Amino acid sequence: MPTISAGALKRMLHLPMNVVTGMPRIEKDPRGGEVVIVPVRPYARDTRRCAECGGRGRPYDRLPTRRWRHLDVGCAKLLLEYAPPRVDCAEHGVTVAMVPWARRRSAYTRDFERQTAWLSVHAPRSAVSQLMRIDWKSVGPVCRRVADDLRAEQGAGLFDHLRSIGVDETSYKRGYKYMTVVVDHDRGRVVWMHQGHGEKVFDLFFQTLTPEQRESIRVITGDGARWIDECAFRWCPTAERILDGFHIVSWATDALDKVRTAAWRRARKTGTARKGAKDPIKGARWALLKNEADLTAGQKAQLECVANTDETLWQAYKLKERLRMILRQTPETAAPLLRQWAADAFLSGIPGFTPLGEKIARRHFDILRTIRSGLSNARLEAVNNRIKTTIKIGYGYRNLDNLIGLVMLKCGGLNLKLPGHQ
Ligand SMILES: [Zn+2]
Repeated sequence: MPTISAGALKRMLHLPMNVVTGMPRIEKDPRGGEVVIVPVRPYARDTRRCAECGGRGRPYDRLPTRRWRHLDVGCAKLLLEYAPPRVDCAEHGVTVAMVPWARRRSAYTRDFERQTAWLSVHAPRSAVSQLMRIDWKSVGPVCRRVADDLRAEQGAGLFDHLRSIGVDETSYKRGYKYMTVVVDHDRGRVVWMHQGHGEKVFDLFFQTLTPEQRESIRVITGDGARWIDECAFRWCPTAERILDGFHIVSWATDALDKVRTAAWRRARKTGTARKGAKDPIKGARWALLKNEADLTAGQKAQLECVANTDETLWQAYKLKERLRMILRQTPETAAPLLRQWAADAFLSGIPGFTPLGEKIARRHFDILRTIRSGLSNARLEAVNNRIKTTIKIGYGYRNLDNLIGLVMLKCGGLNLKLPGHQ
């Protein structure tokens, strides 16, 4: 009869922080299948630690056994079992002692949470829930805990050496709730997020920085909002204030979307689009708003359909794409093209584009400054799109902190590795 040593078991199950105190046993899982139960305890040096501060507490009493879900073994779920003591900390009173293998108030081990978080970055939540065999509502809190830990590991250094940052307010509940996102343009990652928007929230960001960290900021980008100017002036008076390239493009995409809605209404009224029938204009929304280079074959076909059915909408689309291409040129090439664009938009007679032509003419030199700064490039736009897409995916995360956790894991440049991988 072959036996296995406790040491080998520890290594097989990736439990370096635990003492295995008994043989694994197999039980029936009430949800079907079987579960493997492994009794464990922390090393003596890790016992009786206060959950708040990690300091040693006096023994108080012992709670009934608890179980933590760990990474699966074969096809079976694996649960660690331990009866945690409660300790009395001089400062924090009676708390359940912390265990080294799990975060506070979590029913999963750190390895399990890390794997779940890693998967959430790469797969939709339904897939995460199915593969990890956890309720989909648990995925968000796991993302938050892992992201918080990874950020805490980086400490105050998280905000070191920021040079050019971008600030943006983004809706996260389909247009009625907002949050503020601060991006590090040089490293292409999100550095800070907070509920709400406007001057007070942006102030909070600067308050978390040290004076040296604030001083290293040379450029602050955003849309044309006045509160950004005021905050920038208050906290980083020497930093240059620049319009974001993707905000300039978004003026055109917003105008384009209004043209599309109007075209669709018109088509419905004249009866060219019947109820229930597949409407080419309504269906082409994403194709129109997306960058030309990123279109799928299906979307290209949709655009062709628009080109053949609606002259105004097609013209508006071409204007949007042209503006985007101008932003990618050198300042010398861009200057005359930009003037021409403003004139064409103004004279187009398309609602939304006439005033936009005026706006572009008015901000001609601001836009050239954006182009000169290099903050109009495709990489910036890609980072911004990734953030927006992640937020859209995160609509299902009811809690904003969980959503922030997911965005940080995906776009925060955190060092998220699978457990056991170097
Ligand atoms: Zn304590």
